[in-house]
Amino acid sequence: MEMAGRELAEAGSWDIGVRVFNFSAGPAMLPLPVLEQVRDELVEWQGGVSVMEVSHRGKDFLAVAERAEADLRELLAIPPGYRVLFMQGGATGQFSAVPLNLAHTGASADYIDTGHWSGRAIGEARRFVTVHIAADEAATNYSTAPAQSALNLTPDAAYVHYTPNETIGGVEFPYVPATGDVPLVADMSSTILSRPLDVARFGLIYACAQKNIGPSGVTIVIVREDLLGRARPGTPSVFDYRAFAEAGSMLNTPPTFGWYVAGLVLQWLQRQGGLAVMAGRNRAKAEALYSAIDASRFYSNPVARDCRSWMNVPFSLARPELEKAFLAESSAAGLTHLSGHRSVGGMRASIYNAMPAEGVAALVEFMRDFERRNG
Ligand SMILES: *Cc1c(COP(=O)(O)O)cnc(C)c1O
Repeated sequence: MEMAGRELAEAGSWDIGVRVFNFSAGPAMLPLPVLEQVRDELVEWQGGVSVMEVSHRGKDFLAVAERAEADLRELLAIPPGYRVLFMQGGATGQFSAVPLNLAHTGASADYIDTGHWSGRAIGEARRFVTVHIAADEAATNYSTAPAQSALNLTPDAAYVHYTPNETIGGVEFPYVPATGDVPLVADMSSTILSRPLDVARFGLIYACAQKNIGPSGVTIVIVREDLLGRARPGTPSVFDYRAFAEAGSMLNTPPTFGWYVAGLVLQWLQRQGGLAVMAGRNRAKAEALYSAIDASRFYSNPVARDCRSWMNVPFSLARPELEKAFLAESSAAGLTHLSGHRSVGGMRASIYNAMPAEGVAALVEFMRDFERRNG
């Protein structure tokens, strides 16, 4: 008996005839069982309506919202004393919300610059606070993360901001910075839920959904309670953490469909066995891809070995003139969206939770074959 696609995907196996392996950095691949459930429930969800057609304040949607938060809390083992917010505005909205909420006018904040996304966070923060750069990896062309001992932290900073995983550069911190009494703020957009996390180390964690949580539209914020209620005057209510927390993330109409899909992804993660299981799978996928790259003279990855991302693997070809052929042929083989970010070019394979090991194995096989033919 053949297993249905859903069972195959649930069992960690895959039928490539149904869907391609999508290596997009974001919005990114979602687990097939989740998409199938969304499809099955799209028109008739509960009581003959779509989830998109009901009030966010009705009991049916409130149950969705509460379960999603409970699952997130369980998966990440979020300790008491933290609030979970389902906001909008993406990670980019948080680039402003963080300084607006955590730093009074005239304060300064420490930022660690490891590439594109930390640079974007810094640019936005400069509109609200004095930014002190605690480390800048420009000298290595953003192919490294600074060591703890290299961080030039200021004791009176309002907070320390960093980007644990640089989605474009493929650089991931191998440690959580120690910042003493200064709250640590992390943009976890492209690494949240990829492995267990010690939330207690952080003052605030934020992540847009479209990499590893669900469709774009939802932004998750996990914030320590003592950091609520500090928003500076003039902060828009939709970016005020305390106002948002007090309203149960329903200060205004939330992105209900995205919240619902994110909830299904969190349930899927629970069924997989939680984040320790996902960490094992993610580590194995990343190792398979990096060892294939390192074993070849045709492919290369620029990132220092101790801080290579498990989620985003940029690589280039020894013969860049073959990039177009690589992309066209890989796509024809069902391995899609492998082009690097428009700012850097080259290739990038994003291998978040929803990418099965089979997808990485198929990519490695394709890369070897392409090298044999062109190397
Ligand atoms: C994708 C991404 C962002 C941008 O998210 P938006 O939702 O588009 O604002 C910011 N930071 C990181 C690390 C990302 O991966």
